[in-house]
Amino acid sequence: QSTLTATGKDPYPDWKAGDPVPYAALCTTFSKIEMTTKRLEIQAHCSLFLRQVLRLTPTDLLPTILLMINKLAADFAGVELGIGESLIMKAIGESTGRSLAVIKTDQNEIGDLGLVAAKSRSNQGTLFKPKALTVRGVHEGLMAIATIEGQGSQSNKVAGIKKLLSAADAHLTGKGSKGVDITKDKGGPSEAKFIVRTLEGKLRLGLAEKTVLISLSQAMVFHETTSKGNKIPSTDKLAKGEKTLKSVYSELPSYEVIIPAMLEHGLDNLPDNCKLQPGVPLKPMLAKPTKSITEVLDRFDGKQFTCEYKYDGERAQIHFVAHDTAQEYATATAISSAGKSSKGIANIFSRNSEDLSKKYPDILGKLPSWVKDGTKSFVLDCETVAWDMVEKKVLPFQQLMTRKRKDVKTEEIKVKVCVFAFDMLFLNGEPLVNKAFRERRELLHASFVETEGEFAFAKFGDSNELEEIQVLLEDSVKSGCEGLMVKMLDGPESSYEPSKRSQNWLKVKKDYLAGVGDSLDLVVLGAYYGKGKRTSWYGAFLLACYNPSTQLYESVCNIGTGFSEAILEELHTELSQIVIERPKPFYSHSAGNKDQPDVWFEPREVWEIKTADLTLSPRYKAAADQLGGSNGGKGISLRFPRFIKRRDDKKPDQATSSRMVAEMYQKQESVGGKKGPAVDDDF
Ligand code: ATP
Repeated sequence: QSTLTATGKDPYPDWKAGDPVPYAALCTTFSKIEMTTKRLEIQAHCSLFLRQVLRLTPTDLLPTILLMINKLAADFAGVELGIGESLIMKAIGESTGRSLAVIKTDQNEIGDLGLVAAKSRSNQGTLFKPKALTVRGVHEGLMAIATIEGQGSQSNKVAGIKKLLSAADAHLTGKGSKGVDITKDKGGPSEAKFIVRTLEGKLRLGLAEKTVLISLSQAMVFHETTSKGNKIPSTDKLAKGEKTLKSVYSELPSYEVIIPAMLEHGLDNLPDNCKLQPGVPLKPMLAKPTKSITEVLDRFDGKQFTCEYKYDGERAQIHFVAHDTAQEYATATAISSAGKSSKGIANIFSRNSEDLSKKYPDILGKLPSWVKDGTKSFVLDCETVAWDMVEKKVLPFQQLMTRKRKDVKTEEIKVKVCVFAFDMLFLNGEPLVNKAFRERRELLHASFVETEGEFAFAKFGDSNELEEIQVLLEDSVKSGCEGLMVKMLDGPESSYEPSKRSQNWLKVKKDYLAGVGDSLDLVVLGAYYGKGKRTSWYGAFLLACYNPSTQLYESVCNIGTGFSEAILEELHTELSQIVIERPKPFYSHSAGNKDQPDVWFEPREVWEIKTADLTLSPRYKAAADQLGGSNGGKGISLRFPRFIKRRDDKKPDQATSSRMVAEMYQKQESVGGKKGPAVDDDF
């Protein structure tokens, strides 16, 4: 427990009970957070601020939390920030009366649009004092900007950004803001700076979502304790509150549902009032890579496990509520916008909690015929796989990717899919995540009927014998799968752990058996023009992994291998639309002249990459600060990287984490360690 949390003073004394939360107060907290890299201090600033919100203006707790995590709504709502640089520059120019050329020059010099916005405002000075921004107002303004669609949407977005920027830093204008240095990267109070960074989708405060969640639990425990007249809560009470909120959030990741319930019923009663429910997708459980079947046997060490085929398609979470029970879930935000079927309401969510219902109307249409009578509500964990109707077998992932993502009409579908169900997380009003996997699987099999080429249960074999597992692995590969998913069957260890990369799920891919263990999913930061025949296209690319605690993309390799001519052409067409003039301030790459790519991109594209092995290099930054100093400041890089495929289903911040890269590096026998530190890149 940090002293700051226990005794700190209100971070913003001017704000009175019942006032809307001033945005400037949040920015003051952001600035304090920005000044430190210590997680506990960050947490303390954050929870102190949230305590003030709870005490003075609890009705604004939800927008405050959302701005802290740099989101406008739960992921399934599909409202995204990440506004392009050109629109933001235009708005900065227009709101401050500076020309676009000047803004561009500043951006070239400073390299951080947030600071450019701050500088533009402080240089300008205004005649009248605009109304001060509030947290709720900024949230609403950003929401309007993010959701504008259709004709004229670009200019309407610029107008929305201008409106926010014109009101930014109102508390400074009139107080002789001219000459006030609000461009300081660290610590300068600047609403304009944080508005721009929020619009870009990266606050870069080192404020991870997990920290916000912990701070919220602490603030709530403090608030509940002190409002009852008691002094400060015990460490045990704080720890219990944290555990409660984390567990509720992992089952129901929606602050829109959790926060009002927490304010109404209190933190201790939250688990009874907020449970997993259809309509709110949970983050899927993930698996750890392994290099051999013997490693699997070692890890499970005599415990009962099952080996399932690992299908190569797209993760899908199917939520369903029969019409006659739909009323019970009416508060769940997604249910109201759900796809309807004859028996009930259903949604399909991606591994990112994106609503895929418009991509898979064929699945939603057929779903009722797979559901046995008596199955009233459920959440299924599945893989959708492209299906060859003639040969009656699964097709590679690439086929699935050719399907349109939106507004698909069932009659126009060329690539048929089969749903392979491997887990059930909710059934008939009851969450199943804490039950043993053996029981969940039995319930799954008892609640559905298989239909060839449409719906099937994942194939499996429950063997602990090396030879038998070897045969299963070979059979899975022969039938078009990637390998096996090995899962614990019994006891608490076999429960479903939302959002965790768990030791209790192991993946064995056929091509792991030689090499470093797993492919990596990396973000494209830049490109180099090709040589010879490829001069008009990009011939090589700079890739990065993601460090969620610093929110930096850390460079990890250059790649020029594995691309067909056709894909290079396609990539050139698409990537040339997201070129930016200079690297984002949250790109971490060597400063050496010869290491710079010819063009830089917005962080959008994620690619799956294979590598022969990992090595240290001064040119790259991946995991440089995570190797305990033994690396002399060098980063990890991939040797002989090869392009496998584009990963449209992953967002850039879901790329392989730097910790994962560090673990892969340390696990290499050449580096000496068989087991690196446990990776905890999940929530
Ligand atoms: P990860 O999900 O581990 O970050 P990834 O998306 O790159 O990595 P893989 O490494 O291919 O995916 O492995 C995990 C994925 O395999 C799951 O997310 C799921 O989509 C898929 N999968 C296929 N069959 C199964 C199965 N039987 N059980 C669980 N997952 C399965």
